[in-house]
Amino acid sequence: QAHYSTQQALRQQLVEPNATVNAFVNLALSPKISQQTGRLAGLNIAVKDNIATKELPTTCSSAMLKDFVSPFDATCVQLLKSSGATVVGKTNCDEFGMGSLNIHSIHGPVVNPFDTTDPRSAGGSSGGSAAAVAAGMCDAALGTDTGGSVRLPASYCGVVGFKPSYGLISRQAVWGVVSYADSLDCVGVLGSDVAISLRVFEALCEYDPRDPTAAPPEIREDAFAHASTRLSSLGSEMTGLRIGIPQEYFPKELSQEVIEPFRQVILQLKEQGAIIVPVSLPSTSYALSSYYVLASAEASSNLARYDGIQYGSYVRPSPSTDLSITANVYAQSRSQGFGAEVQKRMLLGTYALSADAFDNYFLQAQRVRQMIKNDFDRVFSMSNYFSDAVPSDGSFTAARQVDVLLHPSAIRTAPSLSINEKVEADLSSYVQDVLTVPASLAGLPAVSVPLGKYESAVKGDTRWPIGVSVVGQWGTDRLVLKVGRLLE
Ligand code: GLN
Repeated sequence: QAHYSTQQALRQQLVEPNATVNAFVNLALSPKISQQTGRLAGLNIAVKDNIATKELPTTCSSAMLKDFVSPFDATCVQLLKSSGATVVGKTNCDEFGMGSLNIHSIHGPVVNPFDTTDPRSAGGSSGGSAAAVAAGMCDAALGTDTGGSVRLPASYCGVVGFKPSYGLISRQAVWGVVSYADSLDCVGVLGSDVAISLRVFEALCEYDPRDPTAAPPEIREDAFAHASTRLSSLGSEMTGLRIGIPQEYFPKELSQEVIEPFRQVILQLKEQGAIIVPVSLPSTSYALSSYYVLASAEASSNLARYDGIQYGSYVRPSPSTDLSITANVYAQSRSQGFGAEVQKRMLLGTYALSADAFDNYFLQAQRVRQMIKNDFDRVFSMSNYFSDAVPSDGSFTAARQVDVLLHPSAIRTAPSLSINEKVEADLSSYVQDVLTVPASLAGLPAVSVPLGKYESAVKGDTRWPIGVSVVGQWGTDRLVLKVGRLLE
């Protein structure tokens, strides 16, 4: 546990390592010791900088919000505090959550703490949260996951990253988590092991009537009950657990260094009594394109509010232009306030939503999203509470065959932060998300678990951490985490 009750311990465990890792952008320098009772009593927890906190700024790693301090705490932060945890600081991220390597940040990149002599990416966009946990600077951290931003950095840094079912943890879109793409955004948990991630999840998994996208209590209770019936039928050893391996999750970009350890995991699970079932999710190859159209479209709409007048940093209008004063302020504030990646997404998204392109881009992407959801519903034994197509009795049918899916979390280990590789990474960075976006599009729970014990069996570069992901039907979060524990 990260203890820093004295100023000296605080410096040693937080301030000094942070000078190299750059995980925190704001530290609560004399963290108030929260109440010492409650289910998170005594835990030091970091919070991603796109989640509103009233004691520390919330910058979203953007010049647009560089001076912003929220007048309130997001519901998930309130729950952390009321459960006895101490919020120790705000963590670095890609600007507004857009990115996979935590290199698009006004605070600079996060350096993967696994080996700082060979500077590599901590992954993004919740790179600061993953790095803070990996470096032992805190006990757990909150991140957000829109298309993989908790699971990818967890995989690169060698920690556990859990994205719950969509709608279980409050995002309280208007006053809580800063919206990137509302239909995908989830608050997730990073922890050094599954047990602590589960503990934090349990404290945050509460219905919030102020979050319009929160799953209603009746639906959660029903889904949880089905999942726990299945869990108890499996017993503590989980023998007879049916694990699907989706054949489409081994794209050509998947590096050899990941495949071998993954194979060993499958063998080990089989020995423990699991039933391994090869499955097909045929729409997977369209997921990435669909995700980037939908996420950019929603982002362009959400980020329209930052105009330098009502919201965001104001930049003085430039003297010579034919724009009106207001348009001039908008243009200056937005072009100086947003970084290049965010501007690119807003342009893409605005285009996808324009009258000429809407049918070909936005609507097609929505259709693909439905196909991806249907793929998952066909393979899971548990039914989906939000789909009318399948009965919600939780029964097995021939086509619906597995409890969970298992796949590598990322196509490779952490990429280098050095200049040459960075250029390469920029071009291929969207590909990093190819394995994580399908679960996001379908709103499913997914946990990435590091394969610590397989490290020694592999050679060369693979000593860098590798993550394996478990994905389950909507609402089976506890089942997914229980399977995650089998991998530790
Ligand atoms: N890398 C993806 C993106 O840039 C995912 C980000 C996220 O999950 N916040 O959109």
